[in-house]
Amino acid sequence: MSLRTTMTTPEKNKSDKTATSRSVSLDQTQLGASTLSVHAGEQRQKPSDAITDSIVTASTYTFEDSQSIIDFIENDEPREEYGRYGNPNEKVVERKLAALDAGESALVYASGMAAIVGLLMSKLSSGDEIVFFDQCYHRSREFCYKHLSRFGVVTHQVPTGDFAAMEAAINKRTKMLVSESPTNPHLTCIDLEQFVALGKARGVETLIDATLATPYNVRPLEFGVDYVLHSATKYLAGHNDLLAGVIVGSAEKMEEVRGLRGIMGGISSPHNLYLLQRGLKTFELRMQRHNENGQAVAEFLSEHPRIERVYYPGLTTHPTHEIAKRTMRGFGGLITFLVKDADWRQTANVVDRVKIPRIGPSLGGVESLIEQPLLMSYFKQTPENRLKFGIPDNMIRLSCGIENTQDLIDDLMQALDGE
Ligand SMILES: *Cc1c(COP(=O)(O)O)cnc(C)c1O
Repeated sequence: MSLRTTMTTPEKNKSDKTATSRSVSLDQTQLGASTLSVHAGEQRQKPSDAITDSIVTASTYTFEDSQSIIDFIENDEPREEYGRYGNPNEKVVERKLAALDAGESALVYASGMAAIVGLLMSKLSSGDEIVFFDQCYHRSREFCYKHLSRFGVVTHQVPTGDFAAMEAAINKRTKMLVSESPTNPHLTCIDLEQFVALGKARGVETLIDATLATPYNVRPLEFGVDYVLHSATKYLAGHNDLLAGVIVGSAEKMEEVRGLRGIMGGISSPHNLYLLQRGLKTFELRMQRHNENGQAVAEFLSEHPRIERVYYPGLTTHPTHEIAKRTMRGFGGLITFLVKDADWRQTANVVDRVKIPRIGPSLGGVESLIEQPLLMSYFKQTPENRLKFGIPDNMIRLSCGIENTQDLIDDLMQALDGE
């Protein structure tokens, strides 16, 4: 794919000179993440000669005359029709995200969950089965168990990373293997080569939710995964100011997913998409700092006497460190740790004493966020269930933002040392 292809959807409108704008031929496969996140997917010369894209707020798009409708339908011309099916801001962001993940086609949704639901609804039918690694995002699992089941789709859950169990759960009705990598909050990394090999050997499609990794740290499509999914709400947008989701895959596989999205209506608004495009401009810079902060803070925590255990794939003590080292460029900003000999209240006190990270769910933004999973996500679960999900009362999850590394470390130090 070349940057030139980013200009192959010129508006038919003859007064739009972008259609004839000078093109550059750069091989996108040779370009780094920052060059792609700044330039890929954008026309070189934009309306009003502006360097930035305009936000096109239209809910509908008009046709010059009746013949143009016929041309549009018969020739499948690249233009907008109605806002539920697509908008110009979306096209730019989708091309940019496809380039970042080295995929053919990206499809953006109003949220990460809308993307997961959209993909599974379009690929699965009554009688089909899917197999999940059990550390997947709890809302994804809830969607399968509580809702897909109502449409006759059967979900099997197997221990994360246990490929023998995953293989044993596959039968002739199995249509998709699903995992996150790394998982949340245990940061388990999946051996993508093994995951893809299993899918291919059994003729089953594979989906990786790589929200925590981002295309900067790992590009699952290059391993042969069929679909990579991100909650773009997190690192891709990066500023804790919008919700979005994206799926990237081959053009052929994504076609019917796009069709269903047009019916379900989970598209993102032009304003929102512009914010996502703007957030993406600094994607590589942010990821470099998230990776640095994650590694440094994880190392600091792992040596602190009040810490029982740290989950971070960049630490040699992490059970999947070897897989992470082999498959990832960096290990991200998310760290989970256990406070030694602390009950839920003493753990909450540590959270309450930090001064820089804000207390809240979510991750991947420039602002550090901290939370106690017991309170934030598992409060209504029984203690047995929490244990089953590996969520002890003394667990804290920290999403390192892009603040200065030493400031974050100093802050955690005072929060852990205080009493
Ligand atoms: C946040 C998240 C989601 C859901 O994304 P939303 O944008 O909140 O809908 C899915 N998977 C993972 C790994 C996430 O962190």
